[in-house]
Amino acid sequence: MPAQVVVVPGRLPEGRVDPLYGYVVVISAARALRESKKDSESTHPAILPEYDERCSFCPGNNKVTNEDKTPPELVSFRRDPFDITSWSTRGFTNLFPILALEAEGPAQGVNEIIVETRRHNGFLSSISIEELSEAFRAITIRYFSLRNDPRLEWFSAFKNYGKLAGASMEHPHFQMAVEACIPPKFRERLNRAQDYFYDSRRYLCCDYIEKQRKLGQVIFETEHFVVLVPYAARVPYHFRIFPIKHNPSFAHVLRDSDCVRTDFAETLRRITFLFKIAVQGKDFQQYADPLYNFYIETAPYRDDHKEGILHWHVEFRGKTTIEAGYEYHTGKFVNPTYPEEIATQLREIAQKYQK
Ligand SMILES: [Zn+2]
Ligand SMILES: [Zn+2]
Repeated sequence: MPAQVVVVPGRLPEGRVDPLYGYVVVISAARALRESKKDSESTHPAILPEYDERCSFCPGNNKVTNEDKTPPELVSFRRDPFDITSWSTRGFTNLFPILALEAEGPAQGVNEIIVETRRHNGFLSSISIEELSEAFRAITIRYFSLRNDPRLEWFSAFKNYGKLAGASMEHPHFQMAVEACIPPKFRERLNRAQDYFYDSRRYLCCDYIEKQRKLGQVIFETEHFVVLVPYAARVPYHFRIFPIKHNPSFAHVLRDSDCVRTDFAETLRRITFLFKIAVQGKDFQQYADPLYNFYIETAPYRDDHKEGILHWHVEFRGKTTIEAGYEYHTGKFVNPTYPEEIATQLREIAQKYQK
């Protein structure tokens, strides 16, 4: 018997365009009905030990000069200045860098690591706010230090969590890529913001946030930040964190106010926690955080002043689906869920799991 085509009543596939990046997503509820074997590794990774003797990011693993399994330190905070192993945050060059300052064109730049916690199992969903806030302080210190190098134009801070999300080290860490050339995708994003501003004299992101509010896409707001599921979400658990007040530079904002930096750390931890509950349910404590990637999008160095057009934000994507041939070929994305329903789901979880 031939297979029956699945029709979800009243729900034809629907195309949506993201105004910030211009990508196209097809919301196809029928795709969610496919019988797919859930890859439990990807959604329910095993819990990890607090310390792993084989991990070169764990504290004190080399007893002689300590921490010399990593390149020399560029930034660190220590509880006890006489105990080299007492660090809470450490930054160093990536031992296997994507970029090099001596390279040319799009390969020119630096690639650094920030280890935000001593604990091998210091998950973002449950990390202490002090640790996370310090990690962002370390990132801003590196931002301003690298800003002095006239070869460097563009800054990215990002995090991959889980092997299948691209993290080769199990120990939680952030990465920074600071580049001589502005990447094409970011150039496109900047052009869109500029075109919008020249047409309307308004900021694209500020209007975008307002529109998403009206569409019911907001999950929660804090004093300084708003967290939403984009109406044109690329994947089911796609979140954006925006500062409510227009500002092009994350580094200036997070450097200049401890209170905003703390609020940011809490916001990021909270959305990671809500994502974890959404994916793993009430047994969430039995698992490590589910896989995700996120990055901070901020204005290029030369535009990081107050009058800049870009509005900095965090792009967070939980990795619960995979892109394949259709996405590679068409450049479109297929989301098997309705972003407005995911926003409702996350709001309900937020209600149930108050801070
Ligand atoms: Zn470790
Ligand atoms: Zn804005």
